Amino acid sequence: MIKYPQVSVRTMTDQNLTDFIRCPYKFYYTHIEKKKHPLGWRQAIQHIINKVVSSYFQLPKNQRTPANVLQLIDQYWGRLELGMFDTKLQYYMAAAAITDGLMTNLSSESDIAQPLFLYEKFKMNLKELDVDLSLTFDVAEWQQDSFIVKKFLVDADVQMLELYCHLTVVFSEKVFGIRPARIEVMTLIDGEKHVFNPDTDSLEAGLNYLQLMKNLLEDTQQFSDMYNVNECPACPFQGVCDRDEKIETKHKFLS
Ligand code: SF4
Repeated sequence: MIKYPQVSVRTMTDQNLTDFIRCPYKFYYTHIEKKKHPLGWRQAIQHIINKVVSSYFQLPKNQRTPANVLQLIDQYWGRLELGMFDTKLQYYMAAAAITDGLMTNLSSESDIAQPLFLYEKFKMNLKELDVDLSLTFDVAEWQQDSFIVKKFLVDADVQMLELYCHLTVVFSEKVFGIRPARIEVMTLIDGEKHVFNPDTDSLEAGLNYLQLMKNLLEDTQQFSDMYNVNECPACPFQGVCDRDEKIETKHKFLS
């Protein structure tokens, strides 16, 4: 990576912001330099979760049973390769936790009618920040005069939960003109359910947060203070990561 490249942000997505929070260098290699990298276990499991949840909510209500959750997990889990994990134990622990988390969370959702949105990606231009914003709504359920947004993740730290809530509020208010009644994020590895209730201040807080994120994305001099060494052992860019080297400056765009 070039030391201190200038980055101009034209598009912010839930995916590139999540990657940035995990590690700004990983974000840079993936979304700016577009380096090819093998799928990590977290990403692979996230794809499986998305497939299972999406297929489950497409079933008629009377077929949304625990047995069918298991059948769907079985159907998609086979795509996972043992070699993606550091150890067999890690693989089996992940399999047990994700199966348990999906069984618990989906079995309690059997009464929902057809969701309002099911893994639908929306895009908008946010004039305040002069960027395009893109967000995928996993599951949204209409309730009275608003909606509840649900997201099913492998894992998430506090910063990622904060990011997801701000993005959801800004998007809902700006695109649909409605503040979500509730945002629920299920982190399946630890079996936690995180619930947020947006209020009248949430839109402004969300816009301020996204402005801050845009500034951080463009300020590559700060990258060295923000990367997380805990992400390094499983990172596909370990062999090419030159976070401490100093070379020329170039202008790059995130579009
Ligand atoms: S090796 Fe570490 S610092 Fe470099 S991109 Fe990967 S996670 Fe980030």
